[in-house]
Amino acid sequence: MTYTILNGTLIDRSEAKVDIEDRGYQFGDGVYEVIRVYNGKMFTIKEHLARFEKSSESIGITLPYSTEQLSEMLEELVGKNRLHTGIVYMQVTRGVAPRNHSFPAKEVVPALTAYTKELPRPAENLKNGVKTILTEDIRWLRCDIKSLNLLGSILAKQQAAEKGCFEAILHRGQDVTEGSSTNIFIVKNGVIITHQSDNLILKGITKDVVLQVCAANNISVKEQTFTLDELAAADEVFLSSTTGEVMPIIEVAGKKVGNGVPGPLTSRLQDLFTQEIEKQCGEL
Ligand SMILES: *Cc1c(COP(=O)(O)O)cnc(C)c1O
Repeated sequence: MTYTILNGTLIDRSEAKVDIEDRGYQFGDGVYEVIRVYNGKMFTIKEHLARFEKSSESIGITLPYSTEQLSEMLEELVGKNRLHTGIVYMQVTRGVAPRNHSFPAKEVVPALTAYTKELPRPAENLKNGVKTILTEDIRWLRCDIKSLNLLGSILAKQQAAEKGCFEAILHRGQDVTEGSSTNIFIVKNGVIITHQSDNLILKGITKDVVLQVCAANNISVKEQTFTLDELAAADEVFLSSTTGEVMPIIEVAGKKVGNGVPGPLTSRLQDLFTQEIEKQCGEL
């Protein structure tokens, strides 16, 4: 039996049903998190729960549980499902109410669900790198919220998939923002550049770990906007995300990055990132 969390209770996956008037289903009115599990331990769980709370608050949803309670619930879920390597998916919606754009009455309780999924580390892609496309960023202006509304991201990722690519790199005019579900970094002359964490991108927890690792190892980073031209001229390009970790990008819009193989600084960051995982979750 596989367990899932439905409003604070662990139940069998096949019994977890949501109402057709759930506002997540009808409006995408909610937020979510994806947390990595290595060796049965959740990586950067504190940071993910803090972001979950922040995303919820930014759309006026008060979480029905404290982050401490959530942490315990998720630990129990991972333990009972005997998850070794995979993810926890968690979301909260504004709850179930007759369809009406404005918020329902205060009594309506936010609906919280979570489940686990086995997912190996993407060994091949981490080693060989991935190909990407470029597409205009058509999303809204609050990309800092990890919202359930993902149409802009879905349409971009589908374009990438149709071209046999792993990710779509988004740009607003000349400025590169991020990937459809990842943060994007370029390397030029030994300096890493990545978009500043403002309203135009999602502040990735993997991105934050990368920045911390760089600071601790005297690797220069600039958090600032970079352009399509800078992307095209980069020595190395890589992406970061919870499931993708630190992943080399070897092609952008049909054009090779550098020699078309993962670059040395990217490889170094992959090693340093792996060490961070091992500090929290034990040897991989
Ligand atoms: C989740 C997400 C990321 C990556 O964030 P992590 O916390 O590193 O997983 C980047 N961009 C978008 C749009 C996302 O939704």
